[in-house]
Amino acid sequence: MVKSIKIGVFLCEFEDTTGNDKKNVAFYRNLFLGIGRETLNDYWSEISYGSVDLNGSAVNGWNLIRKTVSGFIQDVEAKYPEGQRRYGKIIQAILNNYDQADIDKYDFVITVFNGNVLDAGAQGGILANEDVANNHTFLSHEIGHLLGLGHSFDLSQRQAATWSQPGEYYNKFDIMSAMNVHSKNHTDYDWVGPRLCAPFVDKLGWMPKDRIFNFEFEPSSYGTKTIKLISMSHPEQPGILMAKIGSYTFEFRTKEGWDSAIPESAVLIHWINDGKPYLIASHSNINDQHWTEGEIWMDSNANKTNIFKSSFQVQVLDIDNENYCAEITVSYKAAKEVPIAHDPLWWLKNLPNTFKDTVLTVVSGEVELFENEKIKEVYQSLNNFAKLYLSKSVTARKADEKILEELKRIIPSTESKFK
Ligand SMILES: [Zn+2]
Repeated sequence: MVKSIKIGVFLCEFEDTTGNDKKNVAFYRNLFLGIGRETLNDYWSEISYGSVDLNGSAVNGWNLIRKTVSGFIQDVEAKYPEGQRRYGKIIQAILNNYDQADIDKYDFVITVFNGNVLDAGAQGGILANEDVANNHTFLSHEIGHLLGLGHSFDLSQRQAATWSQPGEYYNKFDIMSAMNVHSKNHTDYDWVGPRLCAPFVDKLGWMPKDRIFNFEFEPSSYGTKTIKLISMSHPEQPGILMAKIGSYTFEFRTKEGWDSAIPESAVLIHWINDGKPYLIASHSNINDQHWTEGEIWMDSNANKTNIFKSSFQVQVLDIDNENYCAEITVSYKAAKEVPIAHDPLWWLKNLPNTFKDTVLTVVSGEVELFENEKIKEVYQSLNNFAKLYLSKSVTARKADEKILEELKRIIPSTESKFK
């Protein structure tokens, strides 16, 4: 069932701007409603995998506002408090020639100005100032806001504007970071693309459930699994469009169509935190954000010997542009259950066998290695210590601390390891 989003587009000009260059109404009808020419209708229909289109939209105008641009801005500033003036400009421009009922019949409205009203963006509608009035990338981004999406991020500390958060607007592969994205130059629509990232497509309920691979593992298990990701631009190919492992998502993007301006076909990895997707860079030192053949991503636990945390790593095995797919291999090590018990010996009993003679575990599951001839003495001492505590109810954390104390007593030279 396709949902037709009804956008009311109102083209507005002023007494002192009617002579300025402008596109005609047919241009905007094609931009919003056209089919098959990289229009906004095409964009949202394709991005949503056929869940929505813009066929319910209408373009109204050009409407003359009988004021100068500056007179209009003054009116809005007098009527609306700071913080609501974007909305004020969108609505007041329409109400100059229409009624509230003409606004209410749409899901949302976009006011396109021929003239500089000193702002652009979304606030209860979309304000398309003259400089972005034909900009597909800008309009797609703002429509994304009205559909309920926030901005996307990467994990860098970069700030795109003084008021933006670190990393905000720095997912160059996602329309919700526009205007700081890999968009392509377009003869009619200034800039076009890129696509919406997979976690956002999923958030809007558009990712077909049978195209999502949910990677789950049994406790205490380990192994590898190879899966094939289909390019998000090729849903006609059967297979997985998005993989999920815990709070991470994986997608494959090919350099074509809306994604023509991405550097190359590549796998993208997002970390979902508090509902927001953060793009994980392959080479954060040079802000290289995409993953190509042979590259390996490790989650933050993968290089630690912590037996109480799951860890995994993902390698891009193959990128196959001809068949629009990428192979990735997931290697995983599932967590052991964290003991809530009171048996300090648990740590010793549950260590991997290969470590038994040389390893002790200390504090919250972090394994410390000891290359020390006193290891037997330590082991013995711990055994004695453990026996003392077996009958008492102490928390695992407390047991850890006691073990630590004991270790420090027996092997003073290793003290520096415990900080
Ligand atoms: Zn925005």
